[in-house]
Amino acid sequence: MSVSIKSSSEIKRMREAGRLLEQVHNELAKMIRPGISTWEIDRVGEELIRSRGCVPNFLDYNGFPASFCISVNDEVVHGIPSKDRILQEGDIISLDAGLIYRDYHSDAARTYGVGEISEDARKLIDVTRESFFEGLRYAKAGKHLFEISGAIGSYAERFGYGVVRDLVGHGIGTKLHEEPQIPNFKQKRRGMRLYPGMTLAIEPMINEGRADVVWLDDDWTVVTEDGSRSAHYENTILITDGEPEILTLTESLQ
Ligand code: MG
Repeated sequence: MSVSIKSSSEIKRMREAGRLLEQVHNELAKMIRPGISTWEIDRVGEELIRSRGCVPNFLDYNGFPASFCISVNDEVVHGIPSKDRILQEGDIISLDAGLIYRDYHSDAARTYGVGEISEDARKLIDVTRESFFEGLRYAKAGKHLFEISGAIGSYAERFGYGVVRDLVGHGIGTKLHEEPQIPNFKQKRRGMRLYPGMTLAIEPMINEGRADVVWLDDDWTVVTEDGSRSAHYENTILITDGEPEILTLTESLQ
């Protein structure tokens, strides 16, 4: 397994890739409301990416037909935007996207409530986001990769949630998916040692019910097997000599 250590000039580009993606997410967040289709969100999102001189990296990735993965309620990840998928009051929706800025990738996901949502739905979104930050505490030079995994999983499981095991976070750089894979639950090994200059996309996917997921016939959309809601939260981060830098979360702390 080879994990790339980014040089300072590469890190500059990755910072910019991250900053621009954060802007796109923040703009799109304002669009989330009952009555809008996931197709419209994808159209606007792609335009926001291209207007910044960047390229959406999900589009055509292994044939994926859109720029954003948009997953509603029991959809965990990789939902395909559709004109027929109209958001309803009380839904939860996750937007996952990335872009390429001067050959360097960023990747981030957010989950939002549509209009008024239930307390249970809000808690799932909040705990999923918080589990990312629990993992981030171990994203430091000298720590080991799976310390991040264990911290994410044990935090979410404390709330009785199912931590998705079939999908993982990943390294990121000149490719969207680089080594290493980053599970979101406790591993038997410590995993690789972390070094400054590693860039990682850490992305807990947490189910309100059991952890099991299934793939729909479109071969993309992942849903919870028990039909429970699922939330997703992701940032691209940089390992440094000190605290990790969250490349896709600089302007806002949401
Ligand atoms: Mg990712």
